Amino acid sequence: MNRREFIETSAAAAGAAILGLQNQTLARAIGIQVGAVSFLDEGTDKVLDTLVELGAIDTIFLATFTYGRGIGGRQVRGSPLPDHGKQEYDDNYHGGNFATPHAQFYKGTSIAPQKAPDHPDYDVIADVLPRAHKRGMKVICWYEDVFRKDVPGIDKAFEVDVHGKPAARVCYRNPNTLHFWLGLTEDYLRSYPVDGLMFGSERQGPLNTAIGASHGGGASPATVGCFCPHCLAAARKDGINADRARQGYLALEKWIDGMKGGQRPVDGAFVTFWRILVEYPEVLAWERLWNEGLRDTYRAMYRTAHEIAPDKPMGWHIWHTNSFAPFYRAEQDYQAFSAYSDFLKVVMYHNSGGPRMARYIHNVNATLFADLTPDQTTAFTYRIQQYGDEAPLDKLPTAGLSADYVRRETTRAVAGVGTSKTRIWPGIEIDVPTGENEKKTTPEDVYGAVKATFEAGAHGIILSRKYSEMKLDNLRAAGRAIRESGRSGR
Ligand SMILES: [Zn+2]
Repeated sequence: MNRREFIETSAAAAGAAILGLQNQTLARAIGIQVGAVSFLDEGTDKVLDTLVELGAIDTIFLATFTYGRGIGGRQVRGSPLPDHGKQEYDDNYHGGNFATPHAQFYKGTSIAPQKAPDHPDYDVIADVLPRAHKRGMKVICWYEDVFRKDVPGIDKAFEVDVHGKPAARVCYRNPNTLHFWLGLTEDYLRSYPVDGLMFGSERQGPLNTAIGASHGGGASPATVGCFCPHCLAAARKDGINADRARQGYLALEKWIDGMKGGQRPVDGAFVTFWRILVEYPEVLAWERLWNEGLRDTYRAMYRTAHEIAPDKPMGWHIWHTNSFAPFYRAEQDYQAFSAYSDFLKVVMYHNSGGPRMARYIHNVNATLFADLTPDQTTAFTYRIQQYGDEAPLDKLPTAGLSADYVRRETTRAVAGVGTSKTRIWPGIEIDVPTGENEKKTTPEDVYGAVKATFEAGAHGIILSRKYSEMKLDNLRAAGRAIRESGRSGR
């Protein structure tokens, strides 16, 4: 060890000691994500007993705040209801805070802390926490950046897009947004003896959004942000010319709209894109600025959480786009994350990963990689994402991704955090909904993915996305693999 390493290691050790991070509670989680409706539908004791018995679970990642359907509510319509829970779709799902918001923590924000009206007399933490603790299980609050547009006061937190119009999502630099997340963090830790926190944001910066570099809805250059007064001030402070950034994004929009209309740039798609980047390097600076806004939020939440509860872990859900897009992946630097993360739930959904990867490939094949064929884009993506031979594009939606993908992603994540305190608890899927003729989860592929996770050195696991969409046989397969891996005392 040289002097610099010694100083860094000593400083990290001192920091960890101050924060109480040597606590054994951080070492491992055999977790599963569960939402309020499952406890109400099936009975809290019964759900907890089932999770221990079938899944060898020791930690509940309780969906405590979301307006989305990914982690809240029952199975979504269009996918069959699983073999447990109420056999009825909840189309009128609303979402919000599934515990009880305490008003004193939200004084610094315009965003109303709404109790989810789905279960008005029910507080999911108050119900689950004592029963879980009685069984020796831990409970981690799991909250995510998914709002409805009609939340009172949220309009005062929206981004401003490249055309100067309010966008549909909150700006991380807006104080109303920051103080909402800090308030919620404080509320959970001060109001309940929970065992930790996990937060997730499935969003990316303006450049990636413009070119459609995700498995979502495709290129959306007109909606990119953020050009609100808070972001303009941050740009000034960093010496970034916001007008030049705006012009660069408008040039990107013209390039993408032209290709959507069937025009092929004379010099090809890629060269034209690169020309915009070198002409307007502010485009990249704006992408970084946006990400710094998100990372500042993570850092502030982490600081707040540890001021209140030094020995309770706080970690982050890393969006599935990380598996498909090298652009987003470049911004998820696990080593950098380790400065403000006790654990990372890196999403490695192998089954829905097939159709999602196919959608990502079609998205970028219409913009940045329009010079390539879809099959060439697929081969290129597999190589730069460091995957083996996954299915060819036409088979991907029905084949899914393999256990080898899970193994490679786990290995990369464990190596990424290195010797830091940060634990890797991969998010492994069970029955994430896919389209009608697309691959469905089987016990064999769950078993293979869970085995691969532990063989690659993961420190824990989080079965995802929510118990209310999982088939019991698939959960049982996960439990079998966890027990065989010797990772659970259950
Ligand atoms: Zn902004």
